[in-house]
Amino acid sequence: MLSKEMVIERARELGFDDIGFTGAERFEAQDEVLQSRREGYTWLQNVGVDLFEGTDPKTILPGARSIIVLIENYCREAFPASMVGKFGRCYLDDDRITQDGLTQRLKAFRAFLREHGVASKLPFHLPHRLAAARAGLGDFGKNCLFYSNRVARHSSWVLPLAVVVDYEFAPDEPTLGIGCPEWCRNACIAACPTGALEGPRKIDPRKCISFLTYHGEGLTPVEFREPMGTWLYGCDRCQDVCPRNHAWMAQELPVSERVSAMAADFDLAQLLQMDADYFATRIWPHMFYTPPTDRWRWQMNAARAMGNTRDRRYVPDLTRALREAEDERVRAMAAWALGRIGGADARAALESASCGNSEMLQTEVTQALAACSG
Ligand code: SF4
Ligand code: SF4
Repeated sequence: MLSKEMVIERARELGFDDIGFTGAERFEAQDEVLQSRREGYTWLQNVGVDLFEGTDPKTILPGARSIIVLIENYCREAFPASMVGKFGRCYLDDDRITQDGLTQRLKAFRAFLREHGVASKLPFHLPHRLAAARAGLGDFGKNCLFYSNRVARHSSWVLPLAVVVDYEFAPDEPTLGIGCPEWCRNACIAACPTGALEGPRKIDPRKCISFLTYHGEGLTPVEFREPMGTWLYGCDRCQDVCPRNHAWMAQELPVSERVSAMAADFDLAQLLQMDADYFATRIWPHMFYTPPTDRWRWQMNAARAMGNTRDRRYVPDLTRALREAEDERVRAMAAWALGRIGGADARAALESASCGNSEMLQTEVTQALAACSG
């Protein structure tokens, strides 16, 4: 007979930071929240992630009886400075395509369950954070993120992984609720650059930089471009400003060799000029929410990030993109970025831009020239 102690021991052997158990009953409150904000989440359904279905573990595994939640601290190591502030930390060592890190440990954990006659599923559309709180592993911040109550110095730099099983384990005591100190005057809500955080535990995902960088449609709306700063894929701002995270971030951590080895590939100039093969082999296997057919989105994000650095060393790259990029959204964003950086060379590039019959490009070039003058 498989006991909780045996599961905990195996999970710890495999390097997971914390382990908790909850029942497989439906996440009714989450279902109600999603129903009341249905509009904000339909885009996820359109990309194949059905959060509504995920609220019932029995749709994931028909004989579901419990959920084992594993906690993974994804910031055990620091990341190279050139990548911080551009890519959400939780994506920097994501091996779901390369399958050479965390995925192997999860496979080993599920193999252990299987050896004891327990079937399991590891769904991506179940409310993982809520499952973790229901399993007593932590609570929430007003920024909607999950905070550990035992590991990672009680920070939000943790990934809850919910494993649905057809075996009954006694549930742990839930720790649902918000754990923010009263003296923090909603720093995360005030700091959210795009106004996605509308109030305590209330987010409009369509305004979140994460959505805007990898799912947003077409040319990024002008009102978001400056607030999005240098973020290219995800955003950590509401975690970076959070005092609940300071204890973890104040440590000197060794820099990840694995992530450092790929940092050069994620250089802004490389991303802006990359061809389809570069994207498919060097970028997409690590950050794959944008499909391989949407290379333009990465290039557009790189152009916008360059503009927001206000660094004139990027003017030659942006000038080249304005002239030669295959996609007009990339050319349009290169024009915007040149206007944001300004200076004589940027102005000259904009003045000599050939817009053909692209109204979008013509508008962006005109506005960028006005910004240069300003
Ligand atoms: S991740 Fe960034 S954009 Fe999204 S809610 Fe947090 S601060 Fe706002
Ligand atoms: S910044 Fe303040 S309000 Fe926001 S999650 Fe952190 S402690 Fe809570």
